Amino acid sequence: MANILIADNQETHFFNDVCNNFDYAAQFTKHDAGLLDQIKSCNSVYRFRFPIRKGNGFEVIDAWRVEHSHHQSPTKGGIRYSEMVNEDEVMALAALMTYKCAIVNVPFGGAKGGIKINPKNYTIQELENITRRYTVELTKKNFLGPSIDVPAPDYGSGEREMSWIADTYATMNPGQGDALGCVTGKPIALHGIAGRREATGRGVAIAVRECVNVGEDMQRIGLMPGISGKRIIVQGLGNVGYHSAKFLAEFGGIIVGLCEYEGAIYNADGLDVEAVFQHRKETGSILGYPGAAQEFKNSKEGLEQPCDILVPAALENQITADNVRNIQAKIIAEGANGPTTPEAEAIFYENGGIIIPDMYANAGGVTVSYFEWLKNLSHVSFGRMNRRFEENSNLNLVNMVEGITGVALTPMQRSTIIKGASELELVNSGLEDTMIRSYHEIRETFVNNPKIDTLRTAAFVGAINKIAVSYMNLGIWP
Ligand code: NAD
Repeated sequence: MANILIADNQETHFFNDVCNNFDYAAQFTKHDAGLLDQIKSCNSVYRFRFPIRKGNGFEVIDAWRVEHSHHQSPTKGGIRYSEMVNEDEVMALAALMTYKCAIVNVPFGGAKGGIKINPKNYTIQELENITRRYTVELTKKNFLGPSIDVPAPDYGSGEREMSWIADTYATMNPGQGDALGCVTGKPIALHGIAGRREATGRGVAIAVRECVNVGEDMQRIGLMPGISGKRIIVQGLGNVGYHSAKFLAEFGGIIVGLCEYEGAIYNADGLDVEAVFQHRKETGSILGYPGAAQEFKNSKEGLEQPCDILVPAALENQITADNVRNIQAKIIAEGANGPTTPEAEAIFYENGGIIIPDMYANAGGVTVSYFEWLKNLSHVSFGRMNRRFEENSNLNLVNMVEGITGVALTPMQRSTIIKGASELELVNSGLEDTMIRSYHEIRETFVNNPKIDTLRTAAFVGAINKIAVSYMNLGIWP
């Protein structure tokens, strides 16, 4: 396989891997070769450089925005702040966003952004300058806007950066009523949405729960059905990793291992995720956590400890042909994008495992981003129009039933039945429904076609078919 030589002379292969996965899946579809080529290609790649003041001098920052597919508008995808970021990676992640949105029926094309910095090396003021300048550059070139391209947080960025983007864009577009819909993952106080922060991790946990609930699949890989008591290792205690671990524990799983870049900790009896998180906040490391039975200075050793489920939720290329045979988990749930190389995936399946692929497993973030965008365009929060109405209707019903039956409910029972849904409850309900439906859609494709050998291929097949229909509906293809 010829690797792509990218502009900064760093040889990488992530986009090629995504394209190879696409090509492999495409053989199970019946679309025209030209249409498949159009779906696979990156439509627009914008690479730019801009200066910022640093200390007494200047520094030039490398940045990218890639819009992979315009079969739906706007395009959507996070912005990565990382010194490892490069053009190939941003293209690959943008492509994954296209397929991800199709898988969870979110009507966006795929995009991704990258700023080549290590945020830890910059002051907050400098980060703000970088983010605002990045926003100006995107706006100038028409790579940003509520109907054009809508970024979100990714590795190294969060609500703070999204609010700087929203403010800069709104300032540059006075009078544009929908301006704040130019970016999602904003703080709730700045037109964000309840539940977005934890959405990706919650989605990962729901994906895992759905997978382990299918009895015949669990029998095939030698696990008992159900999440309860499943031993889980999570890599990365950032947004996705922390929330995945938190919700998996809430669903009944046991978090036996946690890995960060400084090392890993393990305890077969379980780790208290919140306590580990606080320990790391206070000491700067997960190592030294008093509840750990074992510690590993080499973080990757943590992935190889006994468990049923491994959730890589940090970076790509963490499970490779070199270490996959040492992984003891039967299920890998990809919280991060691209954590498993194609070679490692083939070996893992040969050894009787299941991989819940990134483009589905971590789609909770974009799903709730979609809800946030809808909220921004409609200028009203979910539940505002109907909550009180629902509560009054429920109250009338309860009063009537109590009157007819003569049975009085306790105050707790009454309030549980009467309560109308909050924005958070509606968001979580929409997210759960999306993750459950999408899992079974992918699984059905997998089960109904014996030649399809992985859930990833099944997910790609479903995505390709949906995107092909969009192109046909646009009239671009006959
Ligand atoms: P984050 O910056 O919040 O967290 C990443 C964590 O990984 C950090 O705690 C970091 O210290 C840790 N880490 C870095 N290198 C590591 C290593 N070698 N070993 C172990 N841990 C390491 O980022 P995030 O938003 O949680 O994103 C993580 C992954 O999830 C990325 O691949 C991202 O593309 C993907 N993702 C994120 C979202 C989202 O909503 N944030 C949505 C979909 C996919």
